[in-house]
Amino acid sequence: MMNFDVIIVGGGMVGATQAAATAKLGLRTALLEKALPLRSHSPQPDLRTSAFNLASIQYLGRLGIWEKLNTERLREYHRLSVWEQGGRQLTFDSELTGHSCLGAFAENKNLQIAAIETCQTLGVTLFEDTIQQLHSDKQTTLITTSGKELTASLIIGADGAQSKVRQFAGIGTTGWDYAQHCLLATIKCDHPVPAETWQEFQPTGPKALLPLYDEYACLIWYDTPQRIQSLLSYSQETFLKEAYDIFPDRLPKAEIIESGSFPLARQHANAYFKKNTVLIGDAAHTIHPMAGQGVNLGLKDVEILTHTLEQHFVPGESDLFWLKEYERERRYHNLAMMSLMDTCYVANQLNFPGLKRLRQTFFGAIEPFSPLKEKLLRYAIGV
Ligand SMILES: Cc1cc2nc3c(=O)[nH]c(=O)nc-3n(C[C@H](O)[C@H](O)[C@H](O)COP(=O)(O)OP(=O)(O)OC[C@H]3O[C@@H](n4cnc5c(N)ncnc54)[C@H](O)[C@@H]3O)c2cc1C
Repeated sequence: MMNFDVIIVGGGMVGATQAAATAKLGLRTALLEKALPLRSHSPQPDLRTSAFNLASIQYLGRLGIWEKLNTERLREYHRLSVWEQGGRQLTFDSELTGHSCLGAFAENKNLQIAAIETCQTLGVTLFEDTIQQLHSDKQTTLITTSGKELTASLIIGADGAQSKVRQFAGIGTTGWDYAQHCLLATIKCDHPVPAETWQEFQPTGPKALLPLYDEYACLIWYDTPQRIQSLLSYSQETFLKEAYDIFPDRLPKAEIIESGSFPLARQHANAYFKKNTVLIGDAAHTIHPMAGQGVNLGLKDVEILTHTLEQHFVPGESDLFWLKEYERERRYHNLAMMSLMDTCYVANQLNFPGLKRLRQTFFGAIEPFSPLKEKLLRYAIGV
C-alpha cells in the first residue's frame, strides 16, 4: 500500500498540469496515466493540436511548464478573423489588448510532455496504469489494473470525457451529441502561413484554418457525420479538390499530411465533487470546439482547484465540504461558455433567409466598435 495526499487519475494536458500544481503546493502527489506520451521525432505535427489562450499560457508559465514546451513546434498567433459566408469580416488583433499575441497553437502532446516533465522535477510519483477500483471511506483507496493499492485523502478525476473516476463516484452527466462531426487535417503549405487564424461560418458548419509551425497548418471542417465520413474515404486529390471548392479562397496550396474525425458532444457533470473525489477538465465538461476553449477551461479548473486546495486542504482530513467553493466558481464559468457555444451552434444551423442576412451583417456590424471588440477578445483569451 502506498500513501499520498492526492492521486490524480489521467495525465492528459489538464491532469498532468494539475499534478505539477499540486506538487508545487508541497503535497505528496501521484499521477496515474494509462499511456505516457513519447516526444515526437517526426518533423510533421500530430493531428491533435489546440489553441492555448493567453490566460492559459500565463498560468502554465507561472507553473514552469510553458518554458518546457518544444518552442520549435509552437506557433503564436496575432490575429483572429470570423465571418459568415458572404458577409463582412470581424477581425481581432493582439494590439487591441496591448499583448504581443492572442495565444499559441501547439500539439496537445507538446504540452502534455512538458507538464509530465515538470511533474518529474517536482517529485510526483508517476504510474503508467489505469484505475480498476475506488473505495471511499475516510481515506480513498484506489486499486490499479496492475494490482497496486494507493491511498489518498483526495482523488482528482482528470481522465477525460469517459471518466471512470466520475463513474466510480456515482456522478451523472447531462448533455447531448451535436449533429456535427469535426474533421481535422494537418496540411503542409507551399509557404509558411501568416500568424492569423480564421473561421468562416457556412450553413453546413464552420470551416477554419490554424497556423502551425514552419509550413504546417491545420484545416478544420465541421459538417454532418455522413459528409465527414465520405470526405475521409476520398483520395488526397479528391479531398483537396473538395476543400478548395468549399473553403474560402484564402486556403493556401497544400498537401495533406494526416486527417481524422471526431464526434462532438456537450457533456456536463451534475456535480464537480462528491465526498473526496473531484473532477476537472473534460471529466467535468466537454464543449463544442468551434472557439477552441475546451482545454483552456480545463486549465482554469486547475488554477481554481489549486487555489482552493492551498487555502483549505489538510492531509488526512476526510470532510472536504470546501470543494464546493471550487465547484461554485468553475460551474458557473464553464456553463456560461458552454451556453455561448450552443447559441453559436444553433444560430449557425438555422437557415431561414432572414436569419442568414442578419448573421451576414452581425460580424461586420461589430467591426467598428473597438471597446466592444476588446471586451469580446479579452473574454476569449481570458485576460
Ligand atoms: C476536434 C477537437 C478540437 C479541439 N480543439 C481545441 C482547441 O483548439 N483549444 C482548446 O482549448 N480545446 C480544444 N479541444 C478540447 C480539448 O481537446 C479537450 O478539452 C482537452 O483535451 C481535455 O483535456 P483533459 O486532459 O481534460 O482530457 P483528455 O485529453 O481526454 O485526457 C485524459 C487523459 O486521461 C487518460 N485516461 C483516461 N482514462 C484513464 C484511466 N482509466 N486510467 C488512467 N488514465 C486514463 C487518457 O489516456 C488521457 O491522457 C478540442 C477538442 C476536439 C474534439
